[in-house]
Amino acid sequence: MANATALIGVDELIQQRVAQERLRLETQAGFGNRDEKQFKRPVELGFKRSQREHTTLLFGGLTWKHERLIQGALEGLGYKAEPLPSPDVKAFQTGKEFGNNGQCNPTYFTVGNLVQFLQGLEEQGLTKRQIADRYVFFTAGACGPCRFGMYEAEYRLALRNSGFDGFRVMIFQQSGGLSQSDAEAGLEMNPDFFLGILNAMNCGDALNEVAYNIRPYELSRGATDACLEAAIDGMRNLFRSRKPFRLGDSPARWLGAYQGTAEYLGKFVNQLSSDEYTSELEKIRDRFNQVEVDRLRVKPIVKITGEFWAQTTEGDGNFNMFRFLEREGAQVLVEPIGTWITYMIHQVIQKYSDTRGLEEGAALPPLWKVATRARIAFQYRSKVAKLKLAEAVFRREYHRIGAALGGLNHHLADQYEMQRLGHPYYNSRSGGGEGHLEIAKNIYYSNKDMCHMVLSLKPFGCMPSTQSDGAQAAVVSHFKDIIYLPVETSGEGEINAHSRVQMALGEAKAKARREFEECLARTGLSLEEARDYVAASPELRRPMYRVPQVKGVVGTAANFVLHLGDRMRAENRRHTRSARAASAVA
Ligand code: SF4
Repeated sequence: MANATALIGVDELIQQRVAQERLRLETQAGFGNRDEKQFKRPVELGFKRSQREHTTLLFGGLTWKHERLIQGALEGLGYKAEPLPSPDVKAFQTGKEFGNNGQCNPTYFTVGNLVQFLQGLEEQGLTKRQIADRYVFFTAGACGPCRFGMYEAEYRLALRNSGFDGFRVMIFQQSGGLSQSDAEAGLEMNPDFFLGILNAMNCGDALNEVAYNIRPYELSRGATDACLEAAIDGMRNLFRSRKPFRLGDSPARWLGAYQGTAEYLGKFVNQLSSDEYTSELEKIRDRFNQVEVDRLRVKPIVKITGEFWAQTTEGDGNFNMFRFLEREGAQVLVEPIGTWITYMIHQVIQKYSDTRGLEEGAALPPLWKVATRARIAFQYRSKVAKLKLAEAVFRREYHRIGAALGGLNHHLADQYEMQRLGHPYYNSRSGGGEGHLEIAKNIYYSNKDMCHMVLSLKPFGCMPSTQSDGAQAAVVSHFKDIIYLPVETSGEGEINAHSRVQMALGEAKAKARREFEECLARTGLSLEEARDYVAASPELRRPMYRVPQVKGVVGTAANFVLHLGDRMRAENRRHTRSARAASAVA
Protein backbone atom coordinates (compact mmCIF):
# COMPACT_ATOMS: atom_id res chain seq x y z
CA MET A 1 0.00 0.00 0.00
CA ALA A 2 2.83 2.38 0.91
CA ASN A 3 4.36 1.70 -2.54
CA ALA A 4 1.09 2.31 -4.29
CA THR A 5 0.76 5.63 -2.45
CA ALA A 6 4.21 6.64 -3.49
CA LEU A 7 3.48 5.76 -7.12
CA ILE A 8 0.18 7.50 -7.70
CA GLY A 9 0.11 10.22 -5.06
CA VAL A 10 -2.22 10.68 -2.09
CA ASP A 11 -4.84 12.84 -3.83
CA GLU A 12 -5.29 10.43 -6.68
CA LEU A 13 -5.55 7.54 -4.28
CA ILE A 14 -8.28 9.31 -2.35
CA GLN A 15 -10.19 9.95 -5.59
CA GLN A 16 -9.86 6.28 -6.54
CA ARG A 17 -11.15 5.15 -3.17
CA VAL A 18 -14.06 7.59 -3.31
CA ALA A 19 -14.98 6.32 -6.79
CA GLN A 20 -14.79 2.70 -5.63
CA GLU A 21 -16.94 3.44 -2.61
CA ARG A 22 -19.50 5.35 -4.71
CA LEU A 23 -19.70 2.42 -7.12
CA ARG A 24 -20.15 -0.01 -4.23
CA LEU A 25 -22.94 2.07 -2.68
CA GLU A 26 -24.69 2.67 -6.01
CA THR A 27 -24.55 -1.05 -6.84
CA GLN A 28 -25.92 -1.83 -3.42
CA ALA A 29 -28.77 0.67 -3.97
CA GLY A 30 -29.52 -0.74 -7.42
CA PHE A 31 -28.15 2.25 -9.42
CA GLY A 32 -25.05 0.48 -10.57
CA ASN A 33 -25.74 0.50 -14.30
CA ARG A 34 -27.89 3.53 -14.67
CA ASP A 35 -27.45 5.94 -17.55
CA GLU A 36 -26.34 9.18 -16.02
CA LYS A 37 -28.33 12.03 -17.50
CA GLN A 38 -27.66 15.64 -16.80
CA PHE A 39 -30.82 17.69 -16.22
CA LYS A 40 -31.47 20.03 -19.10
CA ARG A 41 -34.07 22.76 -19.16
CA PRO A 42 -36.74 21.57 -21.59
CA VAL A 43 -36.62 23.19 -25.00
CA GLU A 44 -39.64 25.35 -25.43
CA LEU A 45 -41.29 26.82 -28.48
CA GLY A 46 -40.53 30.49 -28.52
CA PHE A 47 -42.93 33.36 -28.92
CA LYS A 48 -41.93 35.28 -32.03
CA ARG A 49 -42.95 38.69 -33.22
CA SER A 50 -44.61 37.11 -36.27
CA GLN A 51 -46.91 35.11 -33.95
CA ARG A 52 -48.27 38.15 -32.13
CA GLU A 53 -51.39 38.56 -34.17
CA HIS A 54 -52.74 35.10 -33.48
CA THR A 55 -51.32 34.53 -29.97
CA THR A 56 -53.05 35.52 -26.76
CA LEU A 57 -50.96 36.41 -23.72
CA LEU A 58 -52.45 34.92 -20.58
CA PHE A 59 -51.54 36.37 -17.21
CA GLY A 60 -52.94 36.63 -13.68
CA GLY A 61 -52.13 36.79 -9.98
CA LEU A 62 -53.41 40.29 -9.13
CA THR A 63 -56.90 41.71 -8.60
CA TRP A 64 -59.38 41.86 -11.49
CA LYS A 65 -58.95 45.66 -11.47
CA HIS A 66 -55.20 45.57 -11.98
CA GLU A 67 -55.52 42.80 -14.52
CA ARG A 68 -58.07 44.54 -16.73
CA LEU A 69 -55.90 47.64 -16.83
CA ILE A 70 -52.81 45.60 -17.66
CA GLN A 71 -54.86 43.93 -20.37
CA GLY A 72 -55.65 47.37 -21.79
CA ALA A 73 -51.99 48.38 -21.64
CA LEU A 74 -50.92 45.23 -23.49
CA GLU A 75 -53.66 45.69 -26.08
CA GLY A 76 -52.48 49.27 -26.56
CA LEU A 77 -49.03 47.88 -27.41
CA GLY A 78 -50.50 45.60 -30.03
CA TYR A 79 -50.84 42.33 -28.12
CA LYS A 80 -53.84 40.09 -27.67
CA ALA A 81 -54.11 39.65 -23.91
CA GLU A 82 -56.47 37.95 -21.49
CA PRO A 83 -56.32 37.72 -17.70
CA LEU A 84 -57.04 34.38 -16.08
CA PRO A 85 -60.07 34.27 -13.79
CA SER A 86 -59.49 34.61 -10.05
CA PRO A 87 -58.31 31.22 -8.75
CA ASP A 88 -60.87 29.21 -6.80
CA VAL A 89 -60.74 26.09 -4.63
CA LYS A 90 -61.10 23.87 -7.69
CA ALA A 91 -57.95 25.49 -9.12
CA PHE A 92 -56.16 24.74 -5.86
CA GLN A 93 -57.18 21.07 -6.10
CA THR A 94 -56.07 20.95 -9.72
CA GLY A 95 -52.71 22.40 -8.69
CA LYS A 96 -52.35 19.73 -6.02
CA GLU A 97 -53.33 16.99 -8.44
CA PHE A 98 -50.79 17.90 -11.12
CA GLY A 99 -48.03 19.66 -9.17
CA ASN A 100 -45.37 18.62 -6.71
CA ASN A 101 -46.08 17.84 -3.10
CA GLY A 102 -45.12 20.24 -0.36
CA GLN A 103 -45.59 23.49 -2.28
CA CYS A 104 -46.86 26.71 -0.78
CA ASN A 105 -50.49 27.64 -1.15
CA PRO A 106 -50.14 30.29 -3.92
CA THR A 107 -48.25 27.81 -6.07
CA TYR A 108 -51.17 25.37 -6.04
CA PHE A 109 -53.74 28.09 -6.69
CA THR A 110 -51.90 29.82 -9.54
CA VAL A 111 -50.54 26.71 -11.25
CA GLY A 112 -53.91 24.94 -10.94
CA ASN A 113 -55.66 28.04 -12.26
CA LEU A 114 -53.67 27.95 -15.50
CA VAL A 115 -54.27 24.23 -15.99
CA GLN A 116 -57.97 24.70 -15.29
CA PHE A 117 -58.20 27.52 -17.82
CA LEU A 118 -56.53 25.41 -20.50
CA GLN A 119 -58.82 22.50 -19.72
CA GLY A 120 -61.74 24.91 -20.18
CA LEU A 121 -60.43 25.84 -23.64
CA GLU A 122 -60.25 22.18 -24.50
CA GLU A 123 -63.83 21.66 -23.39
CA GLN A 124 -64.83 24.49 -25.71
CA GLY A 125 -63.48 22.44 -28.62
CA LEU A 126 -59.86 23.50 -29.08
CA THR A 127 -57.26 20.78 -29.44
CA LYS A 128 -54.16 20.78 -27.26
CA ARG A 129 -52.09 21.67 -30.31
CA GLN A 130 -54.31 24.66 -31.08
CA ILE A 131 -54.14 25.80 -27.46
CA ALA A 132 -50.34 25.59 -27.47
CA ASP A 133 -50.21 27.55 -30.74
CA ARG A 134 -52.68 30.25 -29.84
CA TYR A 135 -51.89 30.95 -26.19
CA VAL A 136 -48.83 31.72 -24.13
CA PHE A 137 -48.67 32.28 -20.37
CA PHE A 138 -46.72 35.22 -19.08
CA THR A 139 -45.73 35.52 -15.42
CA ALA A 140 -43.18 37.10 -13.12
CA GLY A 141 -40.28 35.02 -11.92
CA ALA A 142 -37.46 35.51 -9.48
CA CYS A 143 -34.67 33.68 -7.83
CA GLY A 144 -34.25 33.61 -4.12
CA PRO A 145 -34.83 31.53 -1.08
CA CYS A 146 -38.63 31.19 -1.24
CA ARG A 147 -40.61 29.00 -3.62
CA PHE A 148 -41.28 31.85 -5.98
CA GLY A 149 -38.06 30.88 -7.73
CA MET A 150 -39.60 27.46 -8.43
CA TYR A 151 -42.85 28.66 -10.00
CA GLU A 152 -41.56 28.29 -13.53
CA ALA A 153 -40.64 24.65 -12.92
CA GLU A 154 -43.98 24.07 -11.20
CA TYR A 155 -45.94 25.45 -14.14
CA ARG A 156 -44.03 23.22 -16.51
CA LEU A 157 -44.46 20.12 -14.37
CA ALA A 158 -48.20 20.62 -13.89
CA LEU A 159 -48.66 21.36 -17.58
CA ARG A 160 -46.79 18.19 -18.51
CA ASN A 161 -48.73 16.09 -16.01
CA SER A 162 -52.05 17.46 -17.25
CA GLY A 163 -51.22 16.73 -20.90
CA PHE A 164 -50.30 20.29 -21.95
CA ASP A 165 -46.63 19.53 -22.43
CA GLY A 166 -45.05 22.17 -24.67
CA PHE A 167 -47.43 24.94 -23.63
CA ARG A 168 -45.35 28.11 -23.49
CA VAL A 169 -44.63 29.76 -20.14
CA MET A 170 -42.76 33.04 -20.39
CA ILE A 171 -41.00 34.33 -17.35
CA PHE A 172 -40.41 37.99 -16.80
CA GLN A 173 -37.63 38.28 -14.21
CA GLN A 174 -38.67 40.92 -11.68
CA SER A 175 -35.13 42.21 -11.35
CA GLY A 176 -34.34 42.04 -15.05
CA GLY A 177 -35.20 45.64 -15.84
CA LEU A 178 -34.98 46.87 -19.40
CA SER A 179 -32.37 44.37 -20.50
CA GLN A 180 -34.88 41.61 -21.24
CA SER A 181 -35.65 42.60 -24.78
CA ASP A 182 -34.83 40.59 -27.81
CA ALA A 183 -35.20 41.86 -31.34
CA GLU A 184 -37.17 38.77 -32.43
CA ALA A 185 -39.12 38.42 -29.22
CA GLY A 186 -42.87 38.24 -29.42
CA LEU A 187 -43.04 40.16 -26.18
CA GLU A 188 -40.84 43.22 -26.34
CA MET A 189 -39.78 44.35 -22.90
CA ASN A 190 -38.96 47.90 -23.85
CA PRO A 191 -39.70 51.25 -22.11
CA ASP A 192 -43.23 51.36 -23.56
CA PHE A 193 -43.96 47.96 -22.09
CA PHE A 194 -42.66 48.83 -18.62
CA LEU A 195 -44.29 52.26 -18.52
CA GLY A 196 -47.60 50.78 -19.68
CA ILE A 197 -47.57 48.02 -17.06
CA LEU A 198 -46.47 50.34 -14.24
CA ASN A 199 -49.11 52.93 -15.10
CA ALA A 200 -51.76 50.23 -15.23
CA MET A 201 -50.70 48.86 -11.85
CA ASN A 202 -50.62 52.31 -10.26
CA CYS A 203 -54.07 53.18 -11.58
CA GLY A 204 -55.29 49.76 -10.39
CA ASP A 205 -53.87 50.43 -6.92
CA ALA A 206 -55.50 53.84 -6.72
CA LEU A 207 -58.94 52.73 -7.92
CA ASN A 208 -58.87 49.63 -5.76
CA GLU A 209 -58.09 51.56 -2.59
CA VAL A 210 -60.62 54.31 -3.27
CA ALA A 211 -63.38 51.73 -3.67
CA TYR A 212 -62.43 49.98 -0.41
CA ASN A 213 -62.44 53.39 1.23
CA ILE A 214 -65.93 54.38 0.09
CA ARG A 215 -67.86 51.09 -0.02
CA PRO A 216 -68.31 50.56 3.76
CA TYR A 217 -69.98 53.98 4.07
CA GLU A 218 -72.13 54.04 0.91
CA LEU A 219 -75.82 54.71 1.49
CA SER A 220 -77.01 52.95 -1.61
CA ARG A 221 -75.70 49.40 -1.70
CA GLY A 222 -73.73 48.59 -4.85
CA ALA A 223 -73.22 52.23 -5.88
CA THR A 224 -69.44 52.10 -5.32
CA ASP A 225 -69.02 48.85 -7.23
CA ALA A 226 -71.04 50.18 -10.16
CA CYS A 227 -68.78 53.23 -10.25
CA LEU A 228 -65.68 51.07 -9.98
CA GLU A 229 -66.77 48.79 -12.85
CA ALA A 230 -67.37 51.78 -15.09
CA ALA A 231 -64.07 53.37 -14.03
CA ILE A 232 -62.06 50.25 -14.83
CA ASP A 233 -63.75 49.91 -18.22
CA GLY A 234 -63.05 53.57 -19.00
CA MET A 235 -59.42 53.33 -17.97
CA ARG A 236 -58.92 50.10 -19.87
CA ASN A 237 -60.20 51.80 -23.02
CA LEU A 238 -57.82 54.67 -22.41
CA PHE A 239 -54.86 52.29 -22.06
CA ARG A 240 -55.98 50.42 -25.14
CA SER A 241 -56.34 53.47 -27.33
CA ARG A 242 -53.36 55.57 -26.23
CA LYS A 243 -50.34 55.73 -28.48
CA PRO A 244 -46.87 55.51 -26.89
CA PHE A 245 -44.69 58.58 -27.32
CA ARG A 246 -42.68 58.61 -30.58
CA LEU A 247 -40.37 61.20 -32.04
CA GLY A 248 -41.75 62.61 -35.24
CA ASP A 249 -39.98 61.75 -38.52
CA SER A 250 -38.26 65.09 -38.96
CA PRO A 251 -36.68 65.40 -35.46
CA ALA A 252 -35.62 61.75 -35.72
CA ARG A 253 -33.79 62.40 -38.98
CA TRP A 254 -32.22 65.51 -37.57
CA LEU A 255 -30.93 63.70 -34.46
CA GLY A 256 -29.17 60.96 -36.42
CA ALA A 257 -27.25 58.60 -34.12
CA TYR A 258 -28.82 60.15 -31.00
CA GLN A 259 -32.32 59.28 -32.11
CA GLY A 260 -32.66 56.29 -29.74
CA THR A 261 -31.53 58.22 -26.67
CA ALA A 262 -33.72 61.17 -27.55
CA GLU A 263 -36.76 58.95 -27.96
CA TYR A 264 -36.00 57.23 -24.68
CA LEU A 265 -35.75 60.56 -22.87
CA GLY A 266 -38.85 61.83 -24.62
CA LYS A 267 -40.86 58.91 -23.26
CA PHE A 268 -39.87 59.71 -19.69
CA VAL A 269 -40.49 63.42 -20.05
CA ASN A 270 -43.86 62.62 -21.57
CA GLN A 271 -44.63 60.28 -18.68
CA LEU A 272 -43.79 62.97 -16.13
CA SER A 273 -45.61 65.81 -17.80
CA SER A 274 -48.59 64.27 -19.57
CA ASP A 275 -52.07 64.46 -18.04
CA GLU A 276 -53.38 61.60 -20.17
CA TYR A 277 -54.28 59.43 -17.18
CA THR A 278 -54.86 62.09 -14.59
CA SER A 279 -57.52 63.94 -16.56
CA GLU A 280 -59.52 60.70 -16.96
CA LEU A 281 -59.02 59.91 -13.28
CA GLU A 282 -60.38 63.34 -12.34
CA LYS A 283 -63.58 62.51 -14.22
CA ILE A 284 -63.76 59.19 -12.37
CA ARG A 285 -63.21 61.02 -9.08
CA ASP A 286 -66.26 63.19 -9.85
CA ARG A 287 -68.35 60.10 -10.54
CA PHE A 288 -67.24 58.47 -7.28
CA ASN A 289 -68.17 61.71 -5.57
CA GLN A 290 -71.80 61.12 -6.54
CA VAL A 291 -71.94 58.09 -4.22
CA GLU A 292 -73.59 59.30 -1.03
CA VAL A 293 -71.85 58.20 2.19
CA ASP A 294 -72.56 58.10 5.90
CA ARG A 295 -69.26 58.61 7.72
CA LEU A 296 -70.94 58.35 11.13
CA ARG A 297 -70.95 54.56 10.82
CA VAL A 298 -68.40 53.38 13.35
CA LYS A 299 -66.10 50.83 11.72
CA PRO A 300 -62.74 49.38 12.69
CA ILE A 301 -60.07 49.87 10.03
CA VAL A 302 -58.31 46.59 9.25
CA LYS A 303 -54.96 46.78 7.54
CA ILE A 304 -54.18 43.79 5.34
CA THR A 305 -50.59 42.59 5.24
CA GLY A 306 -48.91 39.23 4.71
CA GLU A 307 -47.51 37.42 1.72
CA PHE A 308 -47.74 39.26 -1.61
CA TRP A 309 -50.23 37.00 -3.38
CA ALA A 310 -52.35 36.14 -0.34
CA GLN A 311 -52.80 39.81 0.54
CA THR A 312 -53.62 40.80 -3.03
CA THR A 313 -55.92 38.12 -4.46
CA GLU A 314 -59.65 38.52 -4.04
CA GLY A 315 -61.10 35.06 -3.91
CA ASP A 316 -60.77 31.61 -2.42
CA GLY A 317 -56.99 32.09 -2.19
CA ASN A 318 -57.47 34.19 0.94
CA PHE A 319 -60.93 32.93 1.92
CA ASN A 320 -62.57 35.95 0.23
CA MET A 321 -61.32 37.82 3.25
CA PHE A 322 -61.90 41.39 2.10
CA ARG A 323 -65.61 40.95 1.41
CA PHE A 324 -65.97 38.94 4.62
CA LEU A 325 -64.43 41.80 6.63
CA GLU A 326 -66.73 44.32 4.98
CA ARG A 327 -69.77 42.14 5.71
CA GLU A 328 -68.63 41.99 9.32
CA GLY A 329 -68.61 45.78 9.49
CA ALA A 330 -64.95 46.64 8.91
CA GLN A 331 -63.22 49.10 6.58
CA VAL A 332 -60.40 47.35 4.75
CA LEU A 333 -57.10 49.09 4.10
CA VAL A 334 -55.62 47.17 1.18
CA GLU A 335 -51.96 46.88 0.32
CA PRO A 336 -50.90 48.57 -2.92
CA ILE A 337 -48.62 46.76 -5.34
CA GLY A 338 -46.60 49.99 -5.38
CA THR A 339 -45.18 49.07 -1.97
CA TRP A 340 -43.72 45.91 -3.42
CA ILE A 341 -42.15 47.79 -6.34
CA THR A 342 -40.46 50.34 -4.07
CA TYR A 343 -39.34 47.50 -1.80
CA MET A 344 -37.60 45.77 -4.71
CA ILE A 345 -35.83 48.97 -5.73
CA HIS A 346 -34.81 49.56 -2.13
CA GLN A 347 -33.39 46.06 -1.75
CA VAL A 348 -31.24 46.47 -4.87
CA ILE A 349 -29.85 49.78 -3.54
CA GLN A 350 -29.15 48.05 -0.24
CA LYS A 351 -27.34 45.24 -1.99
CA TYR A 352 -25.17 47.67 -3.94
CA SER A 353 -24.15 49.50 -0.82
CA ASP A 354 -23.51 46.25 1.12
CA THR A 355 -21.33 44.76 -1.61
CA ARG A 356 -19.54 47.96 -2.56
CA GLY A 357 -15.91 47.17 -3.39
CA LEU A 358 -16.49 43.42 -3.11
CA GLU A 359 -16.88 42.51 -6.77
CA GLU A 360 -15.54 39.06 -7.36
CA GLY A 361 -11.96 39.09 -8.62
CA ALA A 362 -11.68 42.87 -8.42
CA ALA A 363 -8.83 44.22 -6.29
CA LEU A 364 -9.13 47.70 -4.84
CA PRO A 365 -6.39 49.85 -6.46
CA PRO A 366 -3.68 51.19 -4.12
CA LEU A 367 -4.26 54.53 -2.41
CA TRP A 368 -2.04 56.47 -4.77
CA LYS A 369 -4.20 55.50 -7.79
CA VAL A 370 -6.57 58.31 -6.97
CA ALA A 371 -8.16 58.51 -10.41
CA THR A 372 -8.99 54.78 -10.53
CA ARG A 373 -10.46 54.91 -7.03
CA ALA A 374 -12.50 57.97 -7.95
CA ARG A 375 -13.81 56.17 -11.05
CA ILE A 376 -14.92 53.16 -8.97
CA ALA A 377 -16.61 55.45 -6.44
CA PHE A 378 -18.32 57.35 -9.25
CA GLN A 379 -19.60 54.12 -10.86
CA TYR A 380 -21.08 53.02 -7.56
CA ARG A 381 -22.67 56.39 -6.89
CA SER A 382 -24.12 56.66 -10.36
CA LYS A 383 -25.70 53.17 -10.08
CA VAL A 384 -27.30 54.10 -6.76
CA ALA A 385 -28.32 57.54 -8.02
CA LYS A 386 -30.11 55.98 -11.00
CA LEU A 387 -32.07 53.65 -8.73
CA LYS A 388 -32.92 56.44 -6.32
CA LEU A 389 -34.11 58.52 -9.23
CA ALA A 390 -36.26 55.60 -10.42
CA GLU A 391 -37.70 55.28 -6.92
CA ALA A 392 -38.43 59.02 -6.68
CA VAL A 393 -40.06 59.06 -10.13
CA PHE A 394 -42.16 56.03 -9.30
CA ARG A 395 -43.37 57.54 -6.03
CA ARG A 396 -44.13 60.84 -7.70
CA GLU A 397 -46.19 59.17 -10.42
CA TYR A 398 -47.97 56.96 -7.90
CA HIS A 399 -48.98 59.93 -5.77
CA ARG A 400 -49.94 62.02 -8.79
CA ILE A 401 -52.44 59.34 -9.80
CA GLY A 402 -53.80 59.14 -6.23
CA ALA A 403 -54.17 62.92 -6.04
CA ALA A 404 -56.10 63.02 -9.33
CA LEU A 405 -58.50 60.50 -7.88
CA GLY A 406 -59.29 62.71 -4.91
CA GLY A 407 -56.41 61.99 -2.54
CA LEU A 408 -58.22 59.25 -0.60
CA ASN A 409 -55.31 56.81 -1.04
CA HIS A 410 -52.68 56.56 1.61
CA HIS A 411 -49.14 57.48 0.59
CA LEU A 412 -46.60 54.76 -0.11
CA ALA A 413 -44.64 53.87 2.99
CA ASP A 414 -41.07 55.11 2.97
CA GLN A 415 -38.83 52.07 2.51
CA TYR A 416 -36.03 53.53 4.64
CA GLU A 417 -38.45 53.95 7.49
CA MET A 418 -39.76 50.43 6.93
CA GLN A 419 -36.23 49.11 7.13
CA ARG A 420 -35.57 51.06 10.32
CA LEU A 421 -38.75 49.68 11.90
CA GLY A 422 -38.44 46.10 10.74
CA HIS A 423 -34.72 45.45 10.98
CA PRO A 424 -34.47 45.10 14.79
CA TYR A 425 -36.87 42.13 14.52
CA TYR A 426 -36.15 40.69 11.09
CA ASN A 427 -32.86 41.15 9.30
CA SER A 428 -33.62 43.42 6.36
CA ARG A 429 -31.04 41.56 4.23
CA SER A 430 -33.05 38.34 4.53
CA GLY A 431 -34.70 37.99 1.17
CA GLY A 432 -37.64 35.87 0.14
CA GLY A 433 -41.34 36.69 0.30
CA GLU A 434 -42.00 40.05 1.87
CA GLY A 435 -38.76 39.94 3.89
CA HIS A 436 -38.82 42.43 6.76
CA LEU A 437 -41.89 44.18 5.33
CA GLU A 438 -44.45 42.09 7.19
CA ILE A 439 -42.97 43.14 10.51
CA ALA A 440 -42.41 46.74 9.49
CA LYS A 441 -45.95 47.16 8.16
CA ASN A 442 -47.45 45.91 11.41
CA ILE A 443 -45.57 48.57 13.38
CA TYR A 444 -45.89 51.30 10.73
CA TYR A 445 -49.65 51.17 10.16
CA SER A 446 -50.46 50.74 13.86
CA ASN A 447 -48.15 53.51 15.07
CA LYS A 448 -49.21 55.96 12.38
CA ASP A 449 -52.85 55.74 13.50
CA MET A 450 -53.86 54.19 10.20
CA CYS A 451 -55.65 51.09 11.48
CA HIS A 452 -57.27 49.50 14.52
CA MET A 453 -56.09 46.01 13.63
CA VAL A 454 -53.55 44.31 11.36
CA LEU A 455 -54.58 41.10 9.63
CA SER A 456 -51.70 39.19 8.12
CA LEU A 457 -52.63 36.67 5.44
CA LYS A 458 -50.01 33.97 5.35
CA PRO A 459 -50.20 31.13 2.88
CA PHE A 460 -49.96 27.60 4.06
CA GLY A 461 -46.39 26.37 3.57
CA CYS A 462 -44.85 29.82 3.15
CA MET A 463 -41.34 29.82 4.59
CA PRO A 464 -40.63 33.58 4.86
CA SER A 465 -44.06 34.27 6.30
CA THR A 466 -43.62 31.57 8.93
CA GLN A 467 -40.28 33.10 9.89
CA SER A 468 -41.72 36.58 10.26
CA ASP A 469 -44.56 35.16 12.35
CA GLY A 470 -42.00 34.09 14.94
CA ALA A 471 -40.63 37.63 15.04
CA GLN A 472 -44.13 39.12 15.36
CA ALA A 473 -44.30 37.63 18.85
CA ALA A 474 -41.56 40.07 19.89
CA VAL A 475 -43.27 42.95 18.07
CA VAL A 476 -46.61 42.52 19.85
CA SER A 477 -44.86 42.18 23.19
CA HIS A 478 -43.15 45.56 22.60
CA PHE A 479 -46.18 47.33 21.13
CA LYS A 480 -48.93 46.27 23.49
CA ASP A 481 -51.74 48.23 21.81
CA ILE A 482 -51.41 46.48 18.47
CA ILE A 483 -54.20 44.08 17.58
CA TYR A 484 -52.43 41.67 15.26
CA LEU A 485 -53.84 38.47 13.83
CA PRO A 486 -51.95 36.12 11.50
CA VAL A 487 -54.20 33.79 9.52
CA GLU A 488 -52.86 30.90 7.52
CA THR A 489 -54.62 30.64 4.20
CA SER A 490 -55.02 27.36 2.37
CA GLY A 491 -57.51 25.69 0.09
CA GLU A 492 -59.52 24.52 3.10
CA GLY A 493 -60.49 25.77 6.53
CA GLU A 494 -62.40 28.91 5.54
CA ILE A 495 -64.88 28.66 8.42
CA ASN A 496 -62.13 28.29 10.99
CA ALA A 497 -60.23 31.28 9.56
CA HIS A 498 -63.35 33.44 9.45
CA SER A 499 -64.20 32.65 13.05
CA ARG A 500 -60.69 33.58 14.22
CA VAL A 501 -60.96 36.86 12.33
CA GLN A 502 -64.38 37.50 13.86
CA MET A 503 -62.90 37.18 17.35
CA ALA A 504 -60.06 39.62 16.73
CA LEU A 505 -62.46 41.93 14.90
CA GLY A 506 -64.67 42.01 18.00
CA GLU A 507 -61.75 43.57 19.87
CA ALA A 508 -61.05 46.02 17.04
CA LYS A 509 -64.74 47.01 16.92
CA ALA A 510 -64.72 47.73 20.66
CA LYS A 511 -61.56 49.82 20.18
CA ALA A 512 -63.17 51.80 17.33
CA ARG A 513 -66.40 52.30 19.30
CA ARG A 514 -64.47 53.53 22.39
CA GLU A 515 -62.50 55.93 20.29
CA PHE A 516 -65.67 57.27 18.65
CA GLU A 517 -67.45 57.80 21.99
CA GLU A 518 -64.42 59.70 23.34
CA CYS A 519 -64.26 61.92 20.26
CA LEU A 520 -68.01 62.58 20.37
CA ALA A 521 -67.67 63.55 24.06
CA ARG A 522 -64.78 65.91 23.14
CA THR A 523 -67.06 67.80 20.75
CA GLY A 524 -69.91 68.07 23.27
CA LEU A 525 -72.33 66.91 20.54
CA SER A 526 -74.88 64.14 20.68
CA LEU A 527 -75.01 61.64 17.83
CA GLU A 528 -78.41 63.04 16.79
CA GLU A 529 -77.02 66.58 16.60
CA ALA A 530 -74.14 65.33 14.48
CA ARG A 531 -76.58 63.50 12.20
CA ASP A 532 -78.85 66.53 11.86
CA TYR A 533 -75.90 68.71 10.93
CA VAL A 534 -74.75 66.24 8.25
CA ALA A 535 -78.31 66.00 6.92
CA ALA A 536 -78.31 69.76 6.40
CA SER A 537 -74.89 69.82 4.68
CA PRO A 538 -74.88 67.75 1.47
CA GLU A 539 -71.13 68.21 0.91
CA LEU A 540 -70.45 66.20 4.09
CA ARG A 541 -72.10 63.19 2.48
CA ARG A 542 -69.68 63.24 -0.44
CA PRO A 543 -66.78 60.74 -0.32
CA MET A 544 -64.28 63.23 -1.74
CA TYR A 545 -64.94 65.76 1.01
CA ARG A 546 -61.62 65.96 2.86
CA VAL A 547 -61.81 65.17 6.56
CA PRO A 548 -58.52 66.01 8.29
CA GLN A 549 -56.99 63.27 10.40
CA VAL A 550 -56.33 64.17 14.02
CA LYS A 551 -53.16 62.77 15.58
CA GLY A 552 -53.92 59.74 17.69
CA VAL A 553 -57.36 59.18 16.13
CA VAL A 554 -57.73 56.27 13.69
CA GLY A 555 -61.39 55.74 12.78
CA THR A 556 -63.21 57.50 9.95
CA ALA A 557 -66.26 58.22 12.13
CA ALA A 558 -64.14 59.48 15.05
CA ASN A 559 -62.15 61.87 12.85
CA PHE A 560 -65.34 62.96 11.12
CA VAL A 561 -67.13 63.84 14.34
CA LEU A 562 -64.13 65.87 15.53
CA HIS A 563 -64.20 67.72 12.25
CA LEU A 564 -67.93 68.38 12.64
CA GLY A 565 -67.25 69.83 16.09
CA ASP A 566 -64.55 72.15 14.69
CA ARG A 567 -66.73 73.18 11.79
CA MET A 568 -69.75 73.92 13.97
CA ARG A 569 -67.64 75.95 16.41
CA ALA A 570 -66.14 77.97 13.55
CA GLU A 571 -69.63 78.62 12.13
CA ASN A 572 -70.90 79.73 15.56
CA ARG A 573 -67.98 82.13 15.91
CA ARG A 574 -68.73 83.57 12.47
CA HIS A 575 -72.42 84.01 13.31
CA THR A 576 -71.58 85.70 16.61
CA ARG A 577 -69.15 88.06 14.87
CA SER A 578 -71.64 89.01 12.17
CA ALA A 579 -74.43 89.42 14.75
CA ARG A 580 -72.16 91.77 16.75
CA ALA A 581 -71.25 93.68 13.61
CA ALA A 582 -74.94 94.01 12.68
CA SER A 583 -75.89 95.30 16.15
CA ALA A 584 -72.93 97.76 16.09
CA VAL A 585 -74.20 99.17 12.78
CA ALA A 586 -77.73 99.42 14.19
S1 SF4 B 1 -43.44 34.13 -0.28
FE1 SF4 B 1 -44.20 32.24 0.60
S2 SF4 B 1 -46.15 31.85 -0.40
FE2 SF4 B 1 -45.07 33.36 -1.62
S3 SF4 B 1 -43.99 32.16 -3.17
FE3 SF4 B 1 -42.56 32.45 -1.46
S4 SF4 B 1 -42.84 30.63 -0.18
FE4 SF4 B 1 -44.59 30.74 -1.57
